[in-house]
Amino acid sequence: MALDSYWASFEEISKYNVSLNYFERLWLAWYTYMQNDVLATGIMSFAMHEIVYFGRSLPWIIIDAIPWFRRYKLQQQKIPTAYEQWQCAFLVFISHVTVELPQIWLFHPMCQYFGMSTVVPFPSMYKMAFQIAVFFVLEDAWHYWIHRAMHWGPLYKNIHKIHHQYSAPFGLAAEYASPIEVMVLGLGTVGVPIAWCAITKDLHILTMYLWIVFRLFQAIDAHSGYEFPWSLHHFIPFWAGAEHHDIHHERFIGNYASSFRWWDYFLDTEAGPEAAKKRRERKMAKAKKAQ
Ligand SMILES: [Zn+2]
Ligand SMILES: [Zn+2]
Repeated sequence: MALDSYWASFEEISKYNVSLNYFERLWLAWYTYMQNDVLATGIMSFAMHEIVYFGRSLPWIIIDAIPWFRRYKLQQQKIPTAYEQWQCAFLVFISHVTVELPQIWLFHPMCQYFGMSTVVPFPSMYKMAFQIAVFFVLEDAWHYWIHRAMHWGPLYKNIHKIHHQYSAPFGLAAEYASPIEVMVLGLGTVGVPIAWCAITKDLHILTMYLWIVFRLFQAIDAHSGYEFPWSLHHFIPFWAGAEHHDIHHERFIGNYASSFRWWDYFLDTEAGPEAAKKRRERKMAKAKKAQ
């Protein structure tokens, strides 16, 4: 059923698949219209990444331009200039096209190889939410150890230093990094669901997409440089958020995890003056006990 326009394909699909919801019909129409699954998945993945990455960064660019928001800026004296932001956006986009785009064509064959589903109907919301929660926890662990390793001298100098160019980060700087870093850290984001799929044989590519969208939101917001009274970590104390990662960029040491605070807490790698004070107090208490 090759139809010349996407919407003609959508109408045809809608006629014969009344049990599918609107989004499932949009999805099926896309694959039917494209007649090439590798291309359909590739284009959709790349477009989704670009729209979410730059779309989510846009509100932060606007917030940076409005002086009223300065009261919530974590490093108040360091506001990124418009030029700095454009330069960063340009370099990130170039790396998306040159480094990421060629790899995206491998995505559909890889999904098929590991048995990831691309068909409709979609899995239930409950199942998707559960799987995404698991991915958040596992990716955070991967990120903690790889990021901590990246701060080891030779790796820092040759790879991770680029990401630390901005000591006061902003949304667009989330993926401003060496291509090697993007690939190794990205392996946590893409590899965790793939490993899940290989083991359980139960993953839909839509769940993977939603996970990547949430992970992008997390990364961009963590780099935003703003802490609001309504920021998520005030409601979920173990959520890392901007406050956690901003200190990492400011001080270079500590706070290595991506989404949660538990790894840094339990392995005593929390950054900032408050954490240093707590560490001192703990040491003193220990010394007293030993006396
Ligand atoms: Zn770092
Ligand atoms: Zn960062």
